[in-house]
Amino acid sequence: MKIQSTMTGNKENFQPIHNNRINLFVCGPTVYDNSHIGHARTYIAFDVVARYLKYKGFSVFYLQNITDVDDKIIQRAAENGASPRMLAKRFEQRYLEDMHALGVTNVNYYARATEHVPEIISQIERLMEKGFAYETESGIYFDESRFQDFGKLSHQSVEDLKKHRIEPDPTKRNPGDFSLWKKRQDGEEVTWDSPWGKGRPGWHIEDTAITETYFGAQYDIHGGAMDLIFPHHEAEIAQMEATSGKKPLVRYWMHTGFLNVKGEKMSKSLGNFTTIRDMLQKYEADAFRFFVLLAHYRSPIDFSEESLEQAQKSLERIRQAAKIIEEQLETAPESTTPEGIDPSIDPSVAEAKERFLESMDNDFNTPYALRAVFDLVRGVNRRINEKTISRKGLQDASVLLSEFGEILGLGFNAAGKKPEEKNITENLIELLIEMRQKLREKKEWQLADEIRSKLNEMNIVIEDAKAGGGKYAFRSCTEIT
Ligand code: AMP
Repeated sequence: MKIQSTMTGNKENFQPIHNNRINLFVCGPTVYDNSHIGHARTYIAFDVVARYLKYKGFSVFYLQNITDVDDKIIQRAAENGASPRMLAKRFEQRYLEDMHALGVTNVNYYARATEHVPEIISQIERLMEKGFAYETESGIYFDESRFQDFGKLSHQSVEDLKKHRIEPDPTKRNPGDFSLWKKRQDGEEVTWDSPWGKGRPGWHIEDTAITETYFGAQYDIHGGAMDLIFPHHEAEIAQMEATSGKKPLVRYWMHTGFLNVKGEKMSKSLGNFTTIRDMLQKYEADAFRFFVLLAHYRSPIDFSEESLEQAQKSLERIRQAAKIIEEQLETAPESTTPEGIDPSIDPSVAEAKERFLESMDNDFNTPYALRAVFDLVRGVNRRINEKTISRKGLQDASVLLSEFGEILGLGFNAAGKKPEEKNITENLIELLIEMRQKLREKKEWQLADEIRSKLNEMNIVIEDAKAGGGKYAFRSCTEIT
């Protein structure tokens, strides 16, 4: 099996660190808004990576972080008059619901940044002890000039790196130094105690603190979309390799191409996004997954409703063929040869399997794997028409189709699933709870209590969160913790 690593640019033979065990980490979302289908593209790609590795017999531990403390969260919360913790909680919950709806089900553990602050502080302390980090009046920074390998993942020279002006701050030693710890600014409520006073973690350090906790200083695969190569992943390498002295942090760096709209990356800031929720109102999750897998994970995808509809039609063609195979199973002859010998495996089935596995072994080439699926159903249907396929051949084809579906996370045997009905009641309750939270924050207790007792009458019980976070749940509807 070969994986192309961004570090070398080559397809390399896959060799896990610990025999059969694979530690896979993919950067999770910053939870300040609903996720869009660009995010979905990346997470579907890695869901298929995890599925295929498991199919190959590896024991995969798939870890994802949740960035639940960040400038964007604090800013959005301030705009909405909400608490940053509650806002992050709400969008984390939505993200998990979206992933579930998309069949992205292979993450073993979601690690919140806010639950790993002691580990983050410990890593920063070690970096300071070794002289890789320094304190200023605004926070702690990583000294980029002390880490000789900085730029090795993004293939940038020292001169290239000087062109970037990440995180402008006059107190830094070098323009490229990045923040490990941000000291508390006036009025900031999300803070932790640290040896440097109250503050909060920088973005890059949360990932290495989390991966070090669960995987140690080195692990097998790290993924994310291409925009994370620099500075985020470059910073991760610097932090962890400097802390541990062990190289490399990661054996295989995998980066997905963007989901674009008219050639531009889909993103919140450009405003050209479609949320996963909105897309799922109109289309089946499998149609979107199929659309994503029609491209190699490293290639960009241009999103349009027409191409999504086209993908839905192609998926339906496979399902239709699968249905015919199932129907024919009832009546197909036991054997097709005059001698009565049932061939143990039909050639079209054997060939499709070989090509599918070859494609997936070749850096998870899903477009080629899907071609093998098409060839399988086409070949088997032709032989059905020619009456040259036995019942055993049809059975093999049916089993293989389910197997392919399982690996890709697609229901090939499903008879035209409809998009899941959106639960309007659930959404309305959520909205009411949100409004009530805002009222409480403005100390409009009477109105807030009225909403609460009306919901109570409808058997929906709200458990109020403690100040600054905690949990709320609405029983008899859905549980949000
Ligand atoms: P964020 O919440 O913005 O940190 O993004 C979460 C993950 O989705 C990261 O791996 C991003 O690189 C990835 N991502 C964001 N936008 C896109 C896009 N348009 N296409 C593919 N992946 C994306």
